[in-house]
Formats: sequence, structure tokens, C-alpha cells
Amino acid sequence: MIVGTVKEIKNHEYRVGLTPESVHELTAHGHRVLVETGAGEGIGASDAFYEKAGADIVATAAEIFATAEMVVKVKEPQAAERAMLRPGQILYTYLHLAPDPDQTRDLIASGATCIAYETVTDASGGLPLLKPMSQVAGRMAIQAGATALEKAHGGRGVLLGGVPGVLPAKVAVIGGGVVGFNAAQMAAGLGADVTILDRSPEVLEKLGMYFEARAKTRFSNRANLAECVAEADLVVGAVLIPGAAAPKLVSADMLKTMKKGAVLVDVAIDQGGCFETSHATTHAEPTYIVDGVVHYCVANMPGAVARTSTYALNNVTLPHALRIAELGWKEALRRDPHLREGLNVWDGKVTYRAVADDLGLPY
Ligand code: NAD
Repeated sequence: MIVGTVKEIKNHEYRVGLTPESVHELTAHGHRVLVETGAGEGIGASDAFYEKAGADIVATAAEIFATAEMVVKVKEPQAAERAMLRPGQILYTYLHLAPDPDQTRDLIASGATCIAYETVTDASGGLPLLKPMSQVAGRMAIQAGATALEKAHGGRGVLLGGVPGVLPAKVAVIGGGVVGFNAAQMAAGLGADVTILDRSPEVLEKLGMYFEARAKTRFSNRANLAECVAEADLVVGAVLIPGAAAPKLVSADMLKTMKKGAVLVDVAIDQGGCFETSHATTHAEPTYIVDGVVHYCVANMPGAVARTSTYALNNVTLPHALRIAELGWKEALRRDPHLREGLNVWDGKVTYRAVADDLGLPY
């Protein structure tokens, strides 16, 4: 199969659909790979790296869209890219169609076969192609929180791990799923005093078994949340109610009980945020202060560590890309019902029920 990857054109997107190592795997399996010049710049992978891996470097995205049978990307195609998609061409990338009627309309019109990373499932009911970005964001939450706790950034001047003779910082992680687990791992690893709150007994039990004495777990109810938030130096918001906006678990009134210079990192901001006082920020200006509490609410945290994020993403997307390239998309999806869940648009129709329902389109 001819597989292509283009330079991402969405604002501040530095990730790339295929790493040179992924290109090497594809070419070793006999596929031809086209890479737009400069596609890997954001992760420090030059054209020379891609050429060494067996890719053909191509001057423009237009040539790739005109030639490749499958285009592998990271972000949803922008309007200019959508105009270049061809009937029958496979598009394999994040799409997030439900809130995006314009994109959905263009993909339907293109006649392309569009497989969305975010709806591919696994045997345990998880979303394996979303998981690495939650892992990255969870781990980054502690780095971001540690920086915001420094005086120069408005924080109360507390080092997460303390030092011998001085107590460590108190970190409260609300939500013990993928983001929360990874945040707690990093915070505990630095020696912070970590409490994870969740309302799922199964999640709490799993966390308790994993962390043993290195982190405390608490059931997430109003009273426990209020106590943990008031005592914390750093609070990480990591809740998710699938398909719904994040619940506002920390109210503006609760914020007033917090220590001046404490920090909130609202990872759930991409679902509206779980602190009442949160609003989305950017990597250029990641924080703002309300009632003396520093808020970090960047909606695309993994973008800041584009290299790690790209490699983490490729680890989970490449095996499917290889199977699609080897078998063709129809046979690959027939053999793997979890990959079948990724098919969002095909032959001018929406093929994913939740997207069709949300946008009032036929399914
Ligand atoms: P997940 O489903 O793995 O975990 C969510 C957890 O929240 C679950 O354990 C659930 O039991 C818990 N929860 C639900 N309601 C709760 C409540 N009231 N109190 C405490 N816990 C509660 O989800 P995840 O992958 O960890 O993602 C968490 C959030 O982070 C999502 O909104 C996701 O979109 C977001 N995210 C943001 C970024 C970013 O860049 N900002 C990156 C990745 C993920």
C-alpha cells in the first residue's frame, strides 16, 4: 500500500502521524511511504531520518493526498486538507467529529474512509488510542503543578518532595483513572504526600493495591473533597464522565478555603473542567490566578511534549496501520471488531452511531 504522512497544519501542533521508526516498519513490510518535507521537524526528526527509514520525501501535502492510499495524521484534517481527500482514500487520525459538523460534512462529501483513533476500542472496553495522551497529560500535570508552585509563577513556594527535615507538599488528585493514576505516580515518585479521590470502589481498590503506602485513597464525596482541597498545595482535576461535561467538583466557594499560592491543574478542561473557576488556557499563557490560587488549564497538554506524545501515539496506532496496509481496510476491520469501532465515515455516510445521533445525521 502507498501510505502518506503530512506536516500537521493545525495551530501549534508539533506532533506527526508517523515517526521514522514507524516508517521503517511499514517499508520493511513492503509498503511505500511518502512523507511531506519537514513533517517531523516538531519532534526533531529531519527528512534525512525519514529517508534513512525508507520514505520518499515529497514537497507538498497535495502530492501526498493525490497519491497515498492511506493518509496517517494526528489532528483532524483542516479545511484545506479535507478538500484534498479522495473517494476511497483511507484517513487514519484523531477526528472528534461529534462537536464538529463542518468537518463531518466535508468528510461525508469526500467519499473517503475515515478511521478515528478516539473511537477504536480494546477488549477491556477502554480507548487504547486515547490512553497514551491521558498518560502524558497526567504525568505533565505534576511537572506543570510543580512549576506553578514556584514563587515566580504565583505559587506558595513549596517543593513537592520537600527536603530532609521539611515536610513534602500535599497533592490531591481528583479522579483515579488514566490521568489521575499517572499524576499520582509522578507525585508519589517525587516524594509528595498524595491523596487520590475517586467515586468508583473498583478504581479505589486497584489504586490501593498499586500504591500501598505511597499514596492514600479516599472516596470522592463533598466532605472529603472539601477537606482535601482546603489542605492541598496542589490539586489535579482528572475526572471523566464519558460523554458528559466534567462535573464542577471544586466550587468558587471551596476555592476560597484554599491556601494562597496553592495550585489547581485542571486536566479535565477539555471536557469543560472540574473546577468552577477554570477556563481553558494555552501553552503560551498557561496560568491565571483567582482568589490567590494559581490555575493551570491547558486543553492540549500533550502538544508541549510533542516528541514523547508522538512516540507514545505511534506505539498504539502503528499496529493497526500495518494491518490496514497489509489486508486493506475492509478485511482489517472485519477481522478486528475493535478497529471496526474506529470507522466514523465511509462512502459518504457517518458510520458511528454517537456521531450521527449528536449531529442529527442518518446512520
Ligand atoms: P478515565 O475515564 O480513565 O478516568 C476518569 C476517572 O474519573 C474515573 O476513574 C472515574 O471513576 C472518575 N470520576 C468520575 N466522577 C468522579 C467524581 N465525582 N469524583 C472523583 N472521581 C470521579 O479518564 P482519563 O483518561 O483519566 O481522562 C480524564 C480527563 O482528562 C478527561 O476529561 C480527558 O479528556 C482529559 N484529558 C485532558 C488532556 C489535556 O490535555 N488537558 C489530555 C488527556 C486527557
